[in-house]
Amino acid sequence: MGSDLHSRSPASAYKVQSREVRLAPTLGSHVLDFTSWAHDLSGSNTFPAEIAMTFHFPFTNSYARLPERFYARVAPTAATAPKLIKVNRDLALELGLDPDWLTSPEGVEIIAGKRLAEGSEPIATAYAGHQFGNFVPQLGDGRAILLGEVIDQAGKRRDIQLKGSGRTPFSRGGDGKAALGPVLREYVVSEAMAALGIPTTRALAAATTGETIVRDTLLPGAVLARVASSHVRVGTFQFFAARGDTEGVRLLADHVMSRNYPHAPGAERPYRALLDAVIAAQAELIARWLMVGFIHGVMNTDNMSVAGETIDYGPCAFMDAYDPATVFSSIDRLGRYAYGNQPQIGLWNLTRFAETLLPLLNEDQEQAIGEAQEALSTFAPLFQRAYNEGLRKKLGLFTEREEDAALAGGLLSAMAQNQVDFTLLFRRLADAQVEGDGDEAVRALFVDPAAYQAWVPGWRARIAAEPQDIATRRAAMRAVNPAYIPRNHRVEAMIEAAVAQGDFAPFEELLSVLSRPYDDQPEFAHYAQPPAEEERVHATFCGT
Ligand code: AMP
Ligand code: MG
Repeated sequence: MGSDLHSRSPASAYKVQSREVRLAPTLGSHVLDFTSWAHDLSGSNTFPAEIAMTFHFPFTNSYARLPERFYARVAPTAATAPKLIKVNRDLALELGLDPDWLTSPEGVEIIAGKRLAEGSEPIATAYAGHQFGNFVPQLGDGRAILLGEVIDQAGKRRDIQLKGSGRTPFSRGGDGKAALGPVLREYVVSEAMAALGIPTTRALAAATTGETIVRDTLLPGAVLARVASSHVRVGTFQFFAARGDTEGVRLLADHVMSRNYPHAPGAERPYRALLDAVIAAQAELIARWLMVGFIHGVMNTDNMSVAGETIDYGPCAFMDAYDPATVFSSIDRLGRYAYGNQPQIGLWNLTRFAETLLPLLNEDQEQAIGEAQEALSTFAPLFQRAYNEGLRKKLGLFTEREEDAALAGGLLSAMAQNQVDFTLLFRRLADAQVEGDGDEAVRALFVDPAAYQAWVPGWRARIAAEPQDIATRRAAMRAVNPAYIPRNHRVEAMIEAAVAQGDFAPFEELLSVLSRPYDDQPEFAHYAQPPAEEERVHATFCGT
């Protein structure tokens, strides 16, 4: 994406100060660039006549029932000659949709935003956000449109949103469109995350629009139909808080509680329960990211879902060799969102979230701040527990001991010093429980194999203290240590084939391999390999 979209941010009182997290008492002192975007709409609240209505989506919309200032009503526009790339059949069924109908010409027109399904109330939602630490009071869905919500087979409410479906009142200088490459990347990586068992938005379908869009070069335009448990972000709360619209914050909080945290309204202090729940969900989520080497890349507050799902896959990437300082995103020049910074940034973002809730936490501001701080102080221990627990499982430990964190830490620092592939190491370790058995495959991952030799006896002694046999431990380790992650060089090659040659076979194959990340799949063993030097991806670009 044009990095100018990110840097075009008004001055803000919020800067990352020596990386420490602090709770600012109030947002009231901001000088706000309040743009009345509703005025930009001029007539777009009615849809063009050529948009045909059709059936088949059992929409039941709740966000569109919130006050008008929460969104702009706007129809999708980008598709001229839509062509289907893919329908996620399993997800369609989960949502109670007919996958065959979705692949029909009518279904494809809906996926690409050329036709509106009956019951759809398309809206672009308003939000604000801290981008790289700078507050922008108005962002909003500039290239996304929420078609509506459906109740899935499990009774859960899910959003169906189009990404790349044309301009909205929030587009600012942007064209509202998405290029094929980033659409395919989000499709593959979000589905890989789901298969890994990590909370995430999902990809329901993708289509090319028939349009050529202008980036650094001319590129095919595409639309992603995305599914989420909510598209409400920390930045959505900030949008209202920054305007002093406490009623808006309250309505939004009530909406999020009833949708995502149904226990909260009945709690003694409902808004505190909401804050606690969002903090816990993020602590867990970020720990899960670290366990698979995932780097979100743009953890701005507008890219953090309050439902605890990974959202907005832009210049995201998976680490090959373990190094906590790893950054791929071309727009993250200072490494703010490096792999190892993600927990800290998570807390920073949650602190911004807590600030928006202050007026709801307590009428007395001092008390409210105290409550917010109390809630925020749970993040570090919750994260640490989830992280330690995750590492213990990766190491095949069934019980918990105090020295386990040091054991894991020793391995990680040896890995960092020896450029060891994160995914391969843990996958192979399952086969090295006994000396001489599979050792060579693990040792070969280290630049200096002595580092492995020095670490491994401690691990063997530790697992020997547990009663589980080798086969049991191997199965447990393989169930948490994937063989397949979306390696960057594979993702880039897949995009290149689709964009340059119109060849979607690598996309299909990658998607299929990644749908079973914990299975060996010997015929696809090459997908488990790290990049050769010349295949290595050094930078990823934002998801426009
Ligand atoms: P993101 O990079 O997805 O976090 O987007 C940051 C902000 O820029 C959001 O408000 C987006 O809606 C907006 N944006 C990104 N790309 C475009 C585009 N091509 N057209 C309009 N708005 C965009
Ligand atoms: Mg975003």
